[in-house]
Amino acid sequence: MSIAANLQIIRSTLPEHVTLVAVSKTKPVPDLMEAYNAGQRIFGENKIQEMVDKWEQLPKDIEWHMIGHVQTNKVKYMAPFVSLIHGVDSLKLLEEINKQALKNNRVIDCLLQIYIAEEESKFGLDEEELASLLSSDSFLKMKNIRIVGLMGMATFTDNQNQIKKEFTHLKSIFDELRGTDAIYRVSTNTIPQTLSMGMSGDYQLAIACGSTMVRIGSSIFGGR
Ligand SMILES: *Cc1c(COP(=O)(O)O)cnc(C)c1O
Repeated sequence: MSIAANLQIIRSTLPEHVTLVAVSKTKPVPDLMEAYNAGQRIFGENKIQEMVDKWEQLPKDIEWHMIGHVQTNKVKYMAPFVSLIHGVDSLKLLEEINKQALKNNRVIDCLLQIYIAEEESKFGLDEEELASLLSSDSFLKMKNIRIVGLMGMATFTDNQNQIKKEFTHLKSIFDELRGTDAIYRVSTNTIPQTLSMGMSGDYQLAIACGSTMVRIGSSIFGGR
């Protein structure tokens, strides 16, 4: 099936409040253009250099999301244009994003990545690290970043119960962050709106568990 047909099918299954990030990593520019011509405007990449190359070649009304693990020394390359950084998992990285955003006279939206899987390989903060990041002096002084929500990845498994448990856990952390006495909310007076969870294999379950943003690659563009 074509990319446009895949997109149409996926869109027809998404509730209104769920945003689709088309994950185009490793795919060539003509594939992205096909999705663009089918109306897609949000693309997710996991390597900064690849995202920069594609940003240079593609129409400028595309929103670029960085969904991969970010190396601090590469933040500067995407700071002029990135719309949302999903995988923020340390204060040090946030400090660098804040610094580069200031240089570009921007406020950059970020999601904090939370560790919910049982695998060792997944990045992210645990609840304690999240709380200490949000209450740190350094964080409270940052003016050029905005935490708009959380992101997480479930364990790579066929066990639906386990995936559901992990998504539900992330949703509960998200609800707590949005709660009236959450430190972050008290400090900024904004309510985080975005819960980025769900990929090709598990996005329907993620939505059932409260996801507001799904990151879908292979179901749109084919296998990698
Ligand atoms: C690659 C990737 C996706 C998309 O995965 P698919 O299974 O192809 O939909 C989603 N999120 C992250 C963080 C990724 O690296």
